[in-house]
Amino acid sequence: MSNRTTVTPNDLRAFWMPFTANRQFKQDPRMLVAAKDMHFTSSDGREILDGTAGLWCVNAGHCRPKITEAISRQAGELDYAPAFQMGHPKAFELANRLIDIAPDHMGHVLFTNSGSESVDTALKVALAYHRARGEGSRFRLIGRERGYHGVNFGGISVGGIVTNRKMFGTLLTGVDHLPHTHLPGKNTFTRGVPEHGADLADELSRIVTLHDPSTIAAVIVEPVAGSTGVLIPPKGYLQKLREICTQHGILLIFDEVITGYGRLGAAFAADYFGVKPDIMVTAKGLTNGVIPMGAVFVTPEIHDAFMNGPEHLIEFFHGYTYSGNPIASAAALATLETYKEEGLFERASELAPYWEEGLHSLKGEPHVTDIRNIGLVGAVELEPIAGSPTKRAFSCFLRAWEKGLLIRTTGDIIALSPPLIISKDQIDQIIDTLRSVLNEVD
Ligand code: PMP
Repeated sequence: MSNRTTVTPNDLRAFWMPFTANRQFKQDPRMLVAAKDMHFTSSDGREILDGTAGLWCVNAGHCRPKITEAISRQAGELDYAPAFQMGHPKAFELANRLIDIAPDHMGHVLFTNSGSESVDTALKVALAYHRARGEGSRFRLIGRERGYHGVNFGGISVGGIVTNRKMFGTLLTGVDHLPHTHLPGKNTFTRGVPEHGADLADELSRIVTLHDPSTIAAVIVEPVAGSTGVLIPPKGYLQKLREICTQHGILLIFDEVITGYGRLGAAFAADYFGVKPDIMVTAKGLTNGVIPMGAVFVTPEIHDAFMNGPEHLIEFFHGYTYSGNPIASAAALATLETYKEEGLFERASELAPYWEEGLHSLKGEPHVTDIRNIGLVGAVELEPIAGSPTKRAFSCFLRAWEKGLLIRTTGDIIALSPPLIISKDQIDQIIDTLRSVLNEVD
């Protein structure tokens, strides 16, 4: 199979694609064969404007020479080094740079290869932390409805998406879920952070009372839930979660896989909302999506609890063959430099009002029931077709693809998260294309 040649169904047989309707796709495949800055090139030679930064990850735009050259250099110098009982300088340098940009109260970083691995690593750190401090009775984890925390067993247990859970047995036991924060009717067409719903955090107090605080290890939430349709936390909600966790000695974990590395116009959502989680889970934008890598941030208190044991012991029995991989580390260092040199987090913040204005200009177009935005993230919610949920939004996806725009859909919600290098003209192009798509679909 080569670029720009016809793909036969036989070419597509072997790859069982992730999160894809394989049978449908293989009848009518869409292929990307190249990318540069804000655009993909499709196999039929068309330029596709990337309205989603790949999968919320290509924050600096595609094929940036600084990053791709750093990868090639590293691949020729030190391609792989084990991370168990030995190291290589780039992983240490990267951890230091990450702590430089992290909220001030973060002290240490564990490396993984994906968001899912970062989530499960964070949950294991939380459980082991309480044991290390002699509080092993804290075994319960609390997630949230409509939370997406990747696809590993820990992540789907605390996650709140039924399709991700129902096929896979009993999952982790001892997990409760907070209610989601989507309040249609109350917060519809809110610009930025919605007014209503901070009291939904009180549900945490109820769960804590039900089980007793001494049994609860951690609460995990996405500060802004991305994959289930951009659910922005109501004003004061995250602060309340923080207060309740602090009051009861429960760790608060922010899953910043989407919100990390500038998406909201600050380095992390923790900065944006001024709330201090105990653990921060990241991936995606860490390497600009170019090489798989994740990073889990923890406070010095958490780290030190592990370091207080006997000196000859390994402090935390966890890690991956590729933790802190040299090529991934080089890619991440070059990515962080790019974000800094080009001021991309600030740029996202500066563009956010223009983005908001454009998105909300779609109010009143056919099928639109809600619009949400924060930083350079947006969602346009559509009235579902009776009996065929998801169909209308997916028709929009197909129509937008034909018109040279990549969008993402989840249920009947269109989600948008362009690279942070986007121009105002390109924002206009996204909005204009969506407007015509909404007027064309049934
Ligand atoms: N957490 C969140 C909030 C995510 O959005 C994602 C991916 N969309 C993940 C975890 C899982 O990341 P990965 O696909 O890299 O495993």
